[in-house]
Amino acid sequence: MCIVNTRGGVRVFGVYVPGLSGVAQLLAALVFLLKGYRVVGMRPIDLPSSWISLHPGLREDTVRSIYERCEAVTRRSANRVLDGRRDLRALFDLPQDLLVAPIAIGYYLVGRYLFAKSFIASASCDACGACIDQCPVQAVRLVAGRPFWSHRCESCMRCMNHCPKRAIETAHGFIAGFLFLFDVALVVLIYPVLRPVASMFPETGVVGTVSRFAFDAALMLVALFLSYRLLHLGLRVRLIERLTVFTSLTHFGFWRRYRPPNPFASAVRARGGTRS
Ligand code: SF4
Ligand code: SF4
Repeated sequence: MCIVNTRGGVRVFGVYVPGLSGVAQLLAALVFLLKGYRVVGMRPIDLPSSWISLHPGLREDTVRSIYERCEAVTRRSANRVLDGRRDLRALFDLPQDLLVAPIAIGYYLVGRYLFAKSFIASASCDACGACIDQCPVQAVRLVAGRPFWSHRCESCMRCMNHCPKRAIETAHGFIAGFLFLFDVALVVLIYPVLRPVASMFPETGVVGTVSRFAFDAALMLVALFLSYRLLHLGLRVRLIERLTVFTSLTHFGFWRRYRPPNPFASAVRARGGTRS
């Protein structure tokens, strides 16, 4: 049994920076071992990161070089296993993967419940429906003629990278404003009103900290859900739409979209430069 997971890698000043596997390899290996399989391969593969909510899309030459490296690594690993040897490269990453395990869990919650609510369609959207058709988990739907992102979204970025009108933005300004106002509301309005509930949690210790965190997070999710609904309605107002779009980093020209390498170009290069 071979376990392969993909990660989002980048190249910074010519140095390849791997992505993070979290506990993906470990959990899969555990399940297979418990089922009686012999695990002979555990290999993380770094594909180019397409996570353009956090960083501009990678340049074409960077994407191509990461793909080529990925292909070489995959071939080496497959040949090794086919030769009857083991490739347990993932175990070398075990310390860092265990270290980031809490981040992986946080990402599951934040990625699904916060990032999904950061996507908006600007006035350039013509409701073509491509984002709805292309979403692998059916997380986008049209609400009142405008795309609306649900909690099913897994932040794969496919919709944003493929919108033919470049109309999908990550509303960084909206999220920053929301977090600021939510913090203020928590201290000034919510805690004073809900003090009896909050006082049920222990003041100190792990249980108290976790309980208060879960309480705050639940409040934040409800507030975000309502705010996102309001924003979706507000985007019909030109001023709100412009303000939201111009405070989105993804709106600016330097914030490229991710483009996977052209398979024809790769095939042509592999054949020595002629396309017939
Ligand atoms: S793909 Fe772009 S233009 Fe088409 S509906 Fe989605 S956001 Fe609008
Ligand atoms: S980011 Fe991915 S999962 Fe989320 S709505 Fe877009 S295509 Fe669907």
